[in-house]
Amino acid sequence: DLYPVRRALISVSDKTGMIELGQALAARGVELLSTGGSAKALREAGLTVKDVADVTGFPEMMDGRVKTLHPKVHGGLLALRDNAEHTQAMEDHGIGGIDLLVVNLYPFEAALARGADYDDMIENIDIGGPAMIRAAAKNHGFVTTVVDVEDYAALLGELDANDGQTSYAFRQKFAQTAYARTAAYDAAVSNWMAAAIGEAAPRRRAFAGELAQTLRYGENPHQSAAFYTDGSKRPGVATATQHQGKELSYNNINDTDAAFELVAEFDPAETAAVAIIKHANPCGVAKGATLLEAYKSAFDCDRTSAFGGIVALNRPLDAETAEEMAGIFTEVVIAPGASEEARAIFAKKKNLRLLTTDGLPDVLAKSLTVRQVAGGLLVQDKDAGFISLDDLKVVTKKAPTPEQMKDMLFAWKVAKHVKSNAIVYVKDQATVGVGAGQMSRIDSALIAAKKAERMAEAMGLPQPLTIGSAVASDAFFPFADGLLEAAAAGATCVIQPGGSMRDQEVIDAADAAGLAMVFTGMRHFRH
Ligand code: 5GP
Repeated sequence: DLYPVRRALISVSDKTGMIELGQALAARGVELLSTGGSAKALREAGLTVKDVADVTGFPEMMDGRVKTLHPKVHGGLLALRDNAEHTQAMEDHGIGGIDLLVVNLYPFEAALARGADYDDMIENIDIGGPAMIRAAAKNHGFVTTVVDVEDYAALLGELDANDGQTSYAFRQKFAQTAYARTAAYDAAVSNWMAAAIGEAAPRRRAFAGELAQTLRYGENPHQSAAFYTDGSKRPGVATATQHQGKELSYNNINDTDAAFELVAEFDPAETAAVAIIKHANPCGVAKGATLLEAYKSAFDCDRTSAFGGIVALNRPLDAETAEEMAGIFTEVVIAPGASEEARAIFAKKKNLRLLTTDGLPDVLAKSLTVRQVAGGLLVQDKDAGFISLDDLKVVTKKAPTPEQMKDMLFAWKVAKHVKSNAIVYVKDQATVGVGAGQMSRIDSALIAAKKAERMAEAMGLPQPLTIGSAVASDAFFPFADGLLEAAAAGATCVIQPGGSMRDQEVIDAADAAGLAMVFTGMRHFRH
């Protein structure tokens, strides 16, 4: 099943490592064919290269739209070497076999990331590249296909191990990668077009991913799992640098994502902010003049749950905050950077994983969330819903004070990141009670209040921090009972979407309890 590599076609947009590869192949006696820019660079490096244009007898034309689309190329890639008719056709038409194809495609994804205009995007759609990749991969019985710069070393290793030949298993594995690459490429093109047209529900939708990490297991040890990146390069857990600690697990990745997306709600130019996450729900979120202050306030919301939690910061980790965090067991810390001293402090905590990113994700950017159900995929816009002061409607006799307003808006931002039914109590820009994921809203209100009571006892406070707090509800109160439970816990103002059949009943109850209440007109379910 070994097949020799005697003739290679190199056509790459990303020319990283190309010359070294060309040299290594030439040194192994491989004849090189190449397209315009690639051939030029190889030749300038002193290599002997044959232009594809000389092979086909046609110049590259139409701005490079037509370079390699020719039977002399595709015949050389597709011919079955052990089939008499095929080899006869090669002979009759002067087609030379191409045993190795090295292609990486026009940088469509990079053009997308930099926000190129429509015409620019169109010109970045590679046609001949995918055609050759698909042809070479189909003929993996004889032809080796390489589509990633990262694989050059493996290719040379394979050639060296097999005296200038590749094994069937090697070619087959690379063919599988090749088809995933062209699929991902066309998925990017198609999804870009759907967005350009404004088509939210195209009849056909393609998704693709690139392996970032094989995971030891999934949510539970009997589930296998892997982590794939979507190519968007969005700052976050998928693109972060890990400085220390063991590999992230499936649950770590999920929770770290939840933590970072939440903390990104807070503009680091305005305030420091910290979010502590357990099981994808926040157990403490706070703003502060410094990260240390924010961390301490977030921690005080629910010290019990914060143990073994995942912490996200909206500013680069500093030494004093690192010192404070080192005092308790934390699984993961993610931040847009970390100082030298902070890293030195963490270096002593071997089990703690520190991740840093290039900045925060843009929470308002449009993107999709995808969830699997039996037999299908549920796709929706990511919840980038945003309200400003102008959107709020005061519905009670009592109007909130500016301080209450600030706490309500903070609670509302946090509630967006809490599993429904979500109830969030906030005092002085810090959560003081979080009720998550209950099947009834009243239970979420009750549980959050109960936890605040327990925290007050543990901390030796005279009363729970929910006294005098603002409370947010991710969706409307269907009855007055949930609202009354929040009032009983000490909330003095309420932010909620409104829109229930019984809104009036709820407003009357708020008035009777002396609460101020605002409606947002927007809901933040999260399941
Ligand atoms: P070069 O820099 O060598 O001129 O161009 C390399 C790029 O051209 C590669 O990304 C390759 O996929 C692409 N390519 C090769 N053949 C064709 C073709 O016939 N049409 C188009 N549009 N692109 C091609």
